[in-house]
Amino acid sequence: MSMRIVVLGAPGAGKGTQAARISDHFGTPTISTGELFRSHIAAGDELGQLAAGYIDQGNLVPDDVTTLMVADRLSLDDVAGGFILDGFPRTLAQAAALDRILGDRPLDGVVDFEVQIDAVIGRMLRRAVEQGRSDDTEDVIRNRIRVYHEKTAPLAAHYRERGLLISVDAMGEIDEVASRVVDALEHI
Ligand code: ADP
Repeated sequence: MSMRIVVLGAPGAGKGTQAARISDHFGTPTISTGELFRSHIAAGDELGQLAAGYIDQGNLVPDDVTTLMVADRLSLDDVAGGFILDGFPRTLAQAAALDRILGDRPLDGVVDFEVQIDAVIGRMLRRAVEQGRSDDTEDVIRNRIRVYHEKTAPLAAHYRERGLLISVDAMGEIDEVASRVVDALEHI
């Protein structure tokens, strides 16, 4: 099955984990902008150096830079049969850019992971200890959540109006949430 899917949700909502599950289940590759940025940062290249300044403060990397990176990635052969896009779009401008990139093969659905923010903060602080991410300190987490509310949360209404939104309750065990998502996607 060819699926062109976006996963949306607050920082720490478990999007990345669930994207990996969807990917395994349907055999569709995942593209994570956070992971792409982190690999550029690890490589120490120009894009990585630019992105690090934003990411470490919990701010968004500028739309034009992010969109170019995603357009490049979506031009590779492995996504011809579909993809799960994790972390993009994060602004309405990026959503418009994605429509342009996809052209006449638009998105099939947008999965929105719904969580309670308080639970998410605890989850992220634990992840900070496990993974040592430089943007997982408490102040930066609070800023990422603020940026999410301001810039990214409006995307849910945007995609709902287009009939693409699939809301999933993301509180609960990983397996439980994963089966809710798989069920929902099997019916699109
Ligand atoms: P999370 O979903 O846990 O916040 P991600 O790994 O998706 O983490 O993203 C980490 C950081 O990478 C973001 O806080 C942001 O700085 C940057 N980033 C990721 N995707 C985008 C995007 N689409 N636009 C701008 N910045 C982004």
